[in-house]
Amino acid sequence: MKMSNSITKGKVVGFSYHLKNSQGATLDQSDEPLLYLHGWQNIIPGLEKELEGLVENNSKQVVVSPEDGYGTYDESLVFQVPKAELPPEAELEIGMEFQTDTADGRMVLYLQEVREADVILNGNHPLAGETLHFDVTIKSIREATKEEIQHGHVHGPGGHHHH
Ligand SMILES: [Zn+2]
Repeated sequence: MKMSNSITKGKVVGFSYHLKNSQGATLDQSDEPLLYLHGWQNIIPGLEKELEGLVENNSKQVVVSPEDGYGTYDESLVFQVPKAELPPEAELEIGMEFQTDTADGRMVLYLQEVREADVILNGNHPLAGETLHFDVTIKSIREATKEEIQHGHVHGPGGHHHH
């Protein structure tokens, strides 16, 4: 009997995806398969748990609530900041990220709006509050290397973490 190579903790999984919101508008889709290390929260929890046990070429529709995705939208994470407080060399572009250290650790803020003297920075993920509708197809499954397990992410082509 041949063991089927299914998705379990410690596998490197490649998948393609098409992501839509509840209105059916495309939010994102993969050009190349995305590789991640299963079981290390490299991807949002609501998606990771639904991919458990799938095998190559399986397709699945997965609906992920904001709580299991990019979080609910939090108005208190929207900040008006004087331009003077931004790094002087920053070329302001909508959607660019700033990192700031808070009592809760490092936080990523997205530039949402540029006004005359101020900018609006938003600590919500751009997809916060969205119910996510994924169409996923599993393209590859392999054992992670020891080094990948130690680092908690995928190495090599397709791994999005470079160092
Ligand atoms: Zn690494």
